Amino acid sequence: MAAIPEGVKRLMREDLRELEPYDPAFRATEVNLSANENTWPVSEARLAAYQAALAGVALNRYPDPLARELRAALAERCGVAPEQVVVCNGADEGLFNLLLAFAGPGREVVVAPPTFEEYANFAALVGAPVREVWRREGDFALDEPSLLDAARTASMAILCSPNNPTGDVVRPDLVRALHDACPGIVLVDEAYVDFAGAGCSVAPLLDGCERLVVARTFSKAFSLAGARLGYFLAAPGVASALATVRQIYSVNAVSQALGLADLRAEAEVAELVRAIVAERERLAGRLRELTRELPVEVFPSQANFLLVRLPHASVVRERLASEEGVLVRDFSHAPGLAGCLRVSVGTTAEDERFLAGFARILRSELKERGQSI
Ligand SMILES: *Cc1c(COP(=O)(O)O)cnc(C)c1O
Repeated sequence: MAAIPEGVKRLMREDLRELEPYDPAFRATEVNLSANENTWPVSEARLAAYQAALAGVALNRYPDPLARELRAALAERCGVAPEQVVVCNGADEGLFNLLLAFAGPGREVVVAPPTFEEYANFAALVGAPVREVWRREGDFALDEPSLLDAARTASMAILCSPNNPTGDVVRPDLVRALHDACPGIVLVDEAYVDFAGAGCSVAPLLDGCERLVVARTFSKAFSLAGARLGYFLAAPGVASALATVRQIYSVNAVSQALGLADLRAEAEVAELVRAIVAERERLAGRLRELTRELPVEVFPSQANFLLVRLPHASVVRERLASEEGVLVRDFSHAPGLAGCLRVSVGTTAEDERFLAGFARILRSELKERGQSI
């Protein structure tokens, strides 16, 4: 995107003038392990179900603004009432809507970086001040006492579990404590929860935590990132507040139909998730083998990505893309993430290609700079 010229900036809301258009530095590449999508092939049967679902969509008609069928199916999946489910055009839209409804000028949002950057970005869009409670350097552990302290005066506290990009999960009892401490909304973003161990979701806490909101998406475990479909779980009253500020037709009929089809393919999704989790452990194991020879640190992850720390991370990432056609995400310039790259877990073939290129390029960088390996 082009930079915003001064003349245009003067026309903009003052507090938005210094923001920049989002650029994830995507590029055409053969193996894209940069966005945590599900890269495993879906079955013929599932593709056929997509086709059948699409054939039933009346494109000349508006979609059901309440997405009743999809919400009923999601409610059943999650063990909540349909009134507790709000669908959105990707979890991103839901996040924005939640901040729009509950945060804003003078209404502070507490986040625990390094974490998903959209929380702070969306807070800026709605004019909400952000209070950062940084994770511990070294292992990214949450600073629990400071978090609880900050939450006491916040309009919203946001945790991501498993956290993007560090991969760790939050304990449900900390979420309960946060909910007790915070007078406002407590959001737990569970975009990657399907890849985490049983019992990691905080959705069971919805019963009894009136201001808890849980965010989910079809973009990661489900293979529908392109369809833009997410959903939020909350107490009925909070769900209604969220529904009040949403664009009524933001979830189109095609996405609603595809989401329903995928919920009916839940057994296949579960099988793919198991395969991806096994592949994550295999990839982590292979990376840890490298650490005997190369200065690479591999962080434990309960998501479908791994965070690694290495010298010359940016150069290695750049060379991986240009020489090997493998794209990973560069966080090495992000605060708290010096030297870090995030690698999505791909198929075994994709991951092997990444590993081969990664080890070769890192070795060559170290050698070139005269650093012993
Ligand atoms: C990918 C991601 C989302 C957004 O998912 P969409 O449904 O594709 O908008 C939300 N939160 C986190 C932490 C993510 O990594």
